[in-house]
Amino acid sequence: MQLQIYIDGQFYPEGEAKVSVFDHGLLYGDGIFEGIRFYNGRVFKFEEHLDRLWDSARALMLNIPLSREEMSAATLDTVRRNGLHEGYIRLLVTRGKGNLGLSPDRCPVPSVIIIAATIQLYPPEAYERGMTIVTCATRRMAPAALSPAVKSLNYLNNIMAKIEANIAKADEGLMLNEEGYVAECTGDNIFIVKGGQLLTPPLSAGALYGITRGTVMALAQESGLGVSEPNLTRYDLFNADECFLTGTGAEIIAVVKIDGRVIGKGKPGLVTEGLIGRYRALTQTSGEPI
Ligand code: PMP
Repeated sequence: MQLQIYIDGQFYPEGEAKVSVFDHGLLYGDGIFEGIRFYNGRVFKFEEHLDRLWDSARALMLNIPLSREEMSAATLDTVRRNGLHEGYIRLLVTRGKGNLGLSPDRCPVPSVIIIAATIQLYPPEAYERGMTIVTCATRRMAPAALSPAVKSLNYLNNIMAKIEANIAKADEGLMLNEEGYVAECTGDNIFIVKGGQLLTPPLSAGALYGITRGTVMALAQESGLGVSEPNLTRYDLFNADECFLTGTGAEIIAVVKIDGRVIGKGKPGLVTEGLIGRYRALTQTSGEPI
């Protein structure tokens, strides 16, 4: 059965769900998005994702043509129409149809697209054995150019890094900021465990304000683990007891090798596994009912 895709208030079967070639989302990457998961009939961290969408829109002076309540209703409706109980929502707001010039003042109405589907980001074996990552030469976007906090449709910087990781046959690519401090991976935030403490780069190092990152920090604190956000270098990562990545799609996944250095015992560690258990339990029991 074809997925039913929401575009600007209407539903279309996926084969007919199309946007204009004059949409500035396509012509210039001018737009924003969210990736949201739903588990067990509930949308996980829905309010946090909507907050971030509205924050991204404000930063780009993009007027979302729906109220928050309308966006929320349209999203839940899309999931319901597709009869899904578990899956992934991709919510996009593009600058909309304009002309070939880049100026957004020629785009009168932004477009809203909502896709509800299933997802598997990494194969199950990757969760059991842990991932191998490499440092990429491509640096994370400098905040003076475009804030890395904006979840924009312009992911070329991350895509260039992902290509480097693919060439190196690694599962993911580690991105540093202009100063050489660890920022994040191409689609996930990064954490290490050292001496029983959880450490993750500060958001100012150039990471997306990850919602999974925030959830994991709260879960760690509730279970009595210390959490801090210092600047981290590759040296800190190489000498970590454990390392893992967080993201809506990936959830929590262990990293066992970085640039050829084995991390900790070379397999997913106990702290990581404890957090995975807590995170999964939370996904099954909280969220906005569909
Ligand atoms: N960093 C980047 C660059 C991302 O695209 C994402 C989302 N896939 C994340 C981090 C993780 O953010 P979240 O936990 O909100 O999905």
